[in-house]
Amino acid sequence: MSDNSRQGVREIRINPIVPTESVLIATARSMRPRQREEPAPRDTRKHVPNCPFCRGNEDKTPPEILRRPESDEWAIRIVENLYPVLGDDRSQSNLVFGLQQAIEGYGRHEVIVDHHQHGIAIHEMSEAHLQLLFGVYQLRMGQLYASDERLRYVLVFKNFGPAAGASMAHTHSQIIALPVVPQNLQDEVSNSRNYYDKHHHCIFCTLIDEALTFETTIYDRHSGKVVRRINVGQYVVERGERFIAIKPFASRYEWEVHILPLHHQSDYLDADAEDLADLARVMKRTMARLDAVIGGAQYNYFLHSRPRGKGFEDCHQSYHWHLEICPRTSIPTGFELGSGLFVNTISPEEAAEQLRNAELPDDL
Ligand code: AMP
Ligand code: ZN
Ligand code: ZN
Repeated sequence: MSDNSRQGVREIRINPIVPTESVLIATARSMRPRQREEPAPRDTRKHVPNCPFCRGNEDKTPPEILRRPESDEWAIRIVENLYPVLGDDRSQSNLVFGLQQAIEGYGRHEVIVDHHQHGIAIHEMSEAHLQLLFGVYQLRMGQLYASDERLRYVLVFKNFGPAAGASMAHTHSQIIALPVVPQNLQDEVSNSRNYYDKHHHCIFCTLIDEALTFETTIYDRHSGKVVRRINVGQYVVERGERFIAIKPFASRYEWEVHILPLHHQSDYLDADAEDLADLARVMKRTMARLDAVIGGAQYNYFLHSRPRGKGFEDCHQSYHWHLEICPRTSIPTGFELGSGLFVNTISPEEAAEQLRNAELPDDL
């Protein structure tokens, strides 16, 4: 074993968008492996008779908000959450701690049944279905913002698998509409605004440009000798006509991937049908890559888009919406909780290469 491989990469990487979020990349082979989250066997059944999210059991959920298509053969439904963590003005939420205190308990909490088939994975859904799903996210986000100007942030997210916190096996996403803008969004917006003020360019667009730059050579100004060669194109996982999937340089999770529109866009609500069709394709292929490499991924994903309200009207040029996919392959330890520093034991460059090289079925 060479010294190099024994030592691996050991560095603290600073998140370029939110510098207070740093990651310790520690890939040394000699390092004691972290506690692994074993892949849970996926429930692949198409229909489960007593599942409240399966077709035919529509009466087992609270009132429906919408369905697509509008027939008994629906493909996607949105329903009120049976156990909402946030409620509207009239219903006092039951929670007595946590989120509720911080945000006065006002908001909305809804469940999106992503597909009528109980155990289908994202990469198994058709592109047309995923386009419909992304359109439903958009439709409901728009409706919620328009319904009440006190709602400042509509978070769309998905938990898949017990390691990602999912309590329901039937594939679903959730929408939580908040009367405050979460701190991580505030940090992204204000730091990208600072970058824009200084450089007159969106920091997310700059990251995409860097991801698409395949090699940079730095020369010594006086001698002309090569000082360093940096291979930056190594962060690209998947590329579509309008979207790109990249492995963040400072990835918190071993297999974390972000999907961003290639053309600058601050607000998910501005994505048109062609954007959503390409997003569907890039998403399907990215999830298929993750499935091929880590098998039965348990993950969270969530959308970050321009918030609403005072202080967020002027970030159209500087903010850039994106989708963050965070597969959960290890359990955070006391070090992470105590330090706030995420530990990642696979170098993002290596993980991106494995994802890029994954063999996908021909018809994907
Ligand atoms: P998760 O915990 O990520 O699996 O999300 C499942 C969500 O579904 C939770 O927020 C539950 O409150 C909600 N839920 C559970 N059962 C029902 C039901 N029958 N109808 C509507 N929502 C439900
Ligand atoms: Zn089901
Ligand atoms: Zn941008």
